[in-house]
Amino acid sequence: MSILSVKEVSKTYQSGNRKLTVLDNVNLNIQSGDSIAIVGPSGSGKTTLLGLCAGLDSATTGSVVLNGSAFEKLSEDERAAVRSKNVGFIFQNFQLLPTLTALENVMVPLELKKRKDAKEKALSLLQKVGLGDRVTHYPTQLSGGEQQRVSIARAFANEPLILFADEPTGNLDTETGEMIEDLIFNMNKEEGTTLVLVTHDPELAKRTNRIIHIKGGKIQEENNG
Ligand code: ADP
Repeated sequence: MSILSVKEVSKTYQSGNRKLTVLDNVNLNIQSGDSIAIVGPSGSGKTTLLGLCAGLDSATTGSVVLNGSAFEKLSEDERAAVRSKNVGFIFQNFQLLPTLTALENVMVPLELKKRKDAKEKALSLLQKVGLGDRVTHYPTQLSGGEQQRVSIARAFANEPLILFADEPTGNLDTETGEMIEDLIFNMNKEEGTTLVLVTHDPELAKRTNRIIHIKGGKIQEENNG
């Protein structure tokens, strides 16, 4: 079953009088449960493509359909609702809210969904990522690897169908990065969560089923079998 379909998508940024076409008529179909790496040189449009797929940004032309919802036909509020229902997102720089504890950060998506068991669920998610003893810590009191584990627990909170990760291990040392990778790939294998990640790391890309290369605004696929 297709969970994400990108059809004839182009993205042009305008700054002043200058136009930059980053994605040029791109097509991509992702099956439910699959794992995909998007690779390519810096500035090639990897983050742009990820943001369009997750409904964080809009394509200039073309269509992005996530689990049956065509983002280009939706209002900003409707897009946010589709994201909240289907999408988890992990950033290179974690993007935790600095004024909230680890527990409160993980509770945010649960409270948005008005879940009465938000606290218990957030606690169990933090335990799952090995942070049961860090729940009252603020982000500045946590190491980079711990912050990324909090952000993974937060991304898992809505039980997303699809997890997007933008250079999730880019700011971490090798050992910590491997622990984070294992958490992400376990979610793909055990829960069947579709995984789409952007990476510079060939070893990380090799762990996925499909590798998509972006160059000159076009995508090319490499068989990762
Ligand atoms: P990558 O993730 O492969 O490094 P990005 O998708 O971040 O590439 O960026 C692709 C190109 O688009 C870069 O040249 C970048 O400077 C440009 N770009 C990204 N976001 C914007 C924006 N909001 N406005 C203008 N240009 C942008």
